[in-house]
Amino acid sequence: MNATNPATGEVVATYDEHTDEEVADALDAAASEFASWAERPIRERAELMADAADVLRDNNRRYAEIMTEEMGKPISQALGEVEKCAWVCDHYATHASSYLTSDGHPSPPGTTVRTEYEPIGPVLAVMPWNFPLWQVFRFAAPNLTAGNVGLLKHASNVPGCALAIEEVFEEAGFPDGAFQTLLVGSERVDDVLDDDRVRAATLTGSGPAGRSVAAKAGENLQKTVLELGGSDPFIVLDDADVEDAAETGAWARSMNGGQSCIAAKRFVVHDAVYDEFLEALLAELRDLTVGDPLREETDIGPQAQRHLMEELHGQVEASVDAGATIELGGEPLERDGSFYPPTVLTDVPDGCPADDEELFGPVAAVFRAEDEAEAVRIANDTRFGLGASIWTEDRDRGAAVASQIDAGCVYINQFVKSDPRVPFGGVKDSGYGRELSEAGIKEFVNEKTVWVE
Ligand code: NAP
Repeated sequence: MNATNPATGEVVATYDEHTDEEVADALDAAASEFASWAERPIRERAELMADAADVLRDNNRRYAEIMTEEMGKPISQALGEVEKCAWVCDHYATHASSYLTSDGHPSPPGTTVRTEYEPIGPVLAVMPWNFPLWQVFRFAAPNLTAGNVGLLKHASNVPGCALAIEEVFEEAGFPDGAFQTLLVGSERVDDVLDDDRVRAATLTGSGPAGRSVAAKAGENLQKTVLELGGSDPFIVLDDADVEDAAETGAWARSMNGGQSCIAAKRFVVHDAVYDEFLEALLAELRDLTVGDPLREETDIGPQAQRHLMEELHGQVEASVDAGATIELGGEPLERDGSFYPPTVLTDVPDGCPADDEELFGPVAAVFRAEDEAEAVRIANDTRFGLGASIWTEDRDRGAAVASQIDAGCVYINQFVKSDPRVPFGGVKDSGYGRELSEAGIKEFVNEKTVWVE
């Protein structure tokens, strides 16, 4: 397994894949640790989770640099990601106990009925490279605190991140077997799921990967959570603060090199402010610095892998062939590494990749909507349903539009972002289930009814 620096194209480290025997040992360790981990008081597990937050903060630069080296995230954003991981650890250290306390039931006369939330066992997490620490911690923090144990199969291009996460939990004092990294390719995921001690699986990644894991888990009756792709609309209505919308929209499209499931991908702009918004968005994007991700001032680093950049460029070319107009960018940068510039497409025809598919890079598709109703129609005209952002000075109007959008979350006058305090997840081809908040910690627990007569 190679870790390749996308800023240079050089292999920076090579790791041996785990053998079948090593995977079997890890499954044994997970099953045996689960028996005692689940029995510990939640207070003890929460204290260890708070210690994991400290380990992250104490070593933030090193963990940030591993991410930047393996997948090209600008260092300032990588440091922000480490802090966000510490935040989610702190969040569950503080709130897990109350989230998992029964709030009582309307009990039948003469009885008391309560719900106990019990951990269910080893959970497999299949994770992507784009937020290589955050995606894992948002699974691990609730699940380990709830008493489950974790097995991580990380994306093959970020093995150093995968091992660093295992190290965080070790350093924090978690027992062996509570959280383990399996260095295996995707073709070995089914074998892990076929072990009946694995009780659930969560996957963050593409639709095909999600369907594959859900199919195998379905065969084995393992519960799943799927966090898949998105093509989030960013709707700018005629009464929006256009400057603010353009500034935020540029960030929402370009952060993490545009490689975010909840990035603003389709800008749906009311005719009355279309020209003004487009000009402002172009100005913001032109201002971004593309370059060495280790420099603090860099806004956009390389795309994480060369073949993914080529795929993105293929989508841009196919959209242009179908009739789209390039307003900015549109060609890979001629330099070492896989750098793609901020790109804006307009006149995007129905059914071309920029309209129909997820564009996982800094490419904005801008659509003109005659009126509010058409904006809603365009926003919903996608097989995805992850997030949406709506810009209007009238908050009641924003809320009314939000209720017409098919998505797991809608942000008004804000870009879509995940936050430990609020549920996160999608509908339609963006997946199912929720992470974060109380909803997230309750996905993989046995909600046991206890009826006392
Ligand atoms: P990916 O290719 O689907 O990979 C994600 C993970 O799934 C990797 O660990 C990969 O392993 C594994 N995998 C791939 N095919 C598999 C299969 N058939 N069976 C089992 N495991 C399989 O996705 P990616 O390129 O890393 O990530 C980008 C995608 O993730 C985008 O679509 C993005 O929108 C989505 N995403 C969604 C969210 C969300 O919260 N909804 C968040 C971030 C990203 P290998 O690396 O070994 O192939």
